[in-house]
Amino acid sequence: MVYDVTIIGGGPAGLYAAFQAGLYGLKAQLLEASPTLGGKVVTYSERVIHDIGGQPSISGHQLIQNLQAQVQLYPLPLRTATLVTDVSYEATAAIYNVQTAETTYQTKALVLAIGGGMVRHKPWPLLAEQTYTNVSYVPQNPAAYHEQSVLLVGPGYNLMALAPHLIATAKEVHWIVAKRPFATEAEEQDFLTTYPQIDYQVQPILSYQQANGQLTAVTLANQQTVAVDTVVASFGYRRSLDTHTDWQLTPDQLATPLVQPIGQQVGTKIGVSLIANAFQEGTVAMATIAQQLHPTEKAPMVTTHNQDFDQINAAYWTAE
Ligand SMILES: Cc1cc2nc3c(=O)[nH]c(=O)nc-3n(C[C@H](O)[C@H](O)[C@H](O)COP(=O)(O)OP(=O)(O)OC[C@H]3O[C@@H](n4cnc5c(N)ncnc54)[C@H](O)[C@@H]3O)c2cc1C
Repeated sequence: MVYDVTIIGGGPAGLYAAFQAGLYGLKAQLLEASPTLGGKVVTYSERVIHDIGGQPSISGHQLIQNLQAQVQLYPLPLRTATLVTDVSYEATAAIYNVQTAETTYQTKALVLAIGGGMVRHKPWPLLAEQTYTNVSYVPQNPAAYHEQSVLLVGPGYNLMALAPHLIATAKEVHWIVAKRPFATEAEEQDFLTTYPQIDYQVQPILSYQQANGQLTAVTLANQQTVAVDTVVASFGYRRSLDTHTDWQLTPDQLATPLVQPIGQQVGTKIGVSLIANAFQEGTVAMATIAQQLHPTEKAPMVTTHNQDFDQINAAYWTAE
């Protein structure tokens, strides 16, 4: 099977470009190295974004959910945990071979939406390689922690932002850090005075207990044992910028309308990389590729008039 277009990278740029591919009726797929979609936004999913047109305030988490819901209007595969290790061009067939650990995909066009490279969370050293179903490195919507004892572990700044949001829904919020994450003592004191409900402790965690694939309790250096339902760990992120430096594509093979770099990897004159720009770049990229592959076909109607959306429109007005 030869895809019309393969989108490499499942951050905001890639996800929105994938929706556009569906709109244009292209046979498309998206390949994302990480196990989760959302790109860099995953690293600040608890924060609220205010500069996306028509979306005055939206959390990173909700934005990722929305982008996924939008692309899922079309049945194109979103392959997570799929690192692209190489891309080469087969001139005789005019096809790009996209290499992953599992297989080689063939595609007529490429959208490169690899941002600043692959984003990987740093693991919680105490767990070593072990994983537990209730330990996550990506915070959920605070509502997901309803009536739970939540352990936040690690100095990550996103926990500082997440902890206050959890007070209203969680039964207990414990934030345990080995070292103080606040810049000054005054800042720390201010946080503790504002949020006395948060059990904030600067204590190394010495050990943990587990049962049935879940982490159930931790024991701190002061010998206190804290029972938990859910854990959010945050030890920062690593970005690997070298995911595409070894690809076999030559500059000539990249400089064609059939290969479209979009999103954060596209340098802007004023050095600003915004999600809103990425959306626009995805739209132009897909229009260009569709035009190259199917020059006689008309561009799709604007979405307000597009019959693809008839059912959704009917449901939308019924729900109002
Ligand atoms: C803390 C923070 C706050 C921000 N706040 C805002 C804001 O308020 N407003 C705003 O507009 N922007 C904001 N940004 C910037 C915004 O997040 C980026 O511009 C945006 O994420 C870029 O999207 P992208 O899809 O181009 O790249 P990314 O989000 O980096 O996604 C790229 C994806 O490609 C994947 N990938 C890379 N290499 C490969 C490979 N070889 N194979 C498969 N997959 C691969 C990566 O794993 C990643 O998921 C913020 C950024 C940060 C760090």
